[in-house]
Amino acid sequence: MSARTAPEDAYTAEPFVPGGPGAGLDALREAAAGCRGCPLHREATQTVFGAGAPDARVLLVGEQPGDQEDRQGKPFVGPAGRVLTRALDEAGVEPDETYITNAVKHFTFTVVPERGKRRIHKPPSLREMTACRPWLVAEVAAIDPEMIVALGATAGKALLGSSFRVTEQRGTLLPCPALDDHEMVATIHPSAVLRADDREAVYRGLVSDLRVVAEALG
Ligand code: SF4
Repeated sequence: MSARTAPEDAYTAEPFVPGGPGAGLDALREAAAGCRGCPLHREATQTVFGAGAPDARVLLVGEQPGDQEDRQGKPFVGPAGRVLTRALDEAGVEPDETYITNAVKHFTFTVVPERGKRRIHKPPSLREMTACRPWLVAEVAAIDPEMIVALGATAGKALLGSSFRVTEQRGTLLPCPALDDHEMVATIHPSAVLRADDREAVYRGLVSDLRVVAEALG
């Protein structure tokens, strides 16, 4: 399938996902490296697939890779990842019981020449999120976590639909009909802490939401 010629409403990762929902993580990761399901692969360095424990109890979903993730090929290795690691630790969620991925697996950006050609993150479109969803569905099927955590509005919309509002639905247990009714908790994206005027208050909110996860896991 050529994403170059596919109309926008035909963007999908589906033909690239191996072996249906029963495929293991290694096979999924290998196949995702060659995904051409939407045009985002053209400018990005590489696919950034999920990482973590294959039998994780908690599967965390962010938006999409950032600049450093794109260069290193791993999710949440930048400053937002460090905030998340600290918040998970403080909330009592064990790192070796987590797997972390993104709703969209390729970095999308705009280049700003007046800022030294810096690559500035651009949010994925609804079509790109929908195109990439088969990878997330396959990851959830392979891991079968006890809890899914949506990090930010984009991940929440990818999982719960466009009416999702992180400010209204964060920090409570929600069913996720799109993913076999797995239990989920939504919270802010950890990058929101870095952008906030009052970083401490926003960080505390993130920890508080993640405590709901830790308590539900027992
Ligand atoms: S963003 Fe997702 S659907 Fe698009 S090319 Fe990358 S892996 Fe495939």
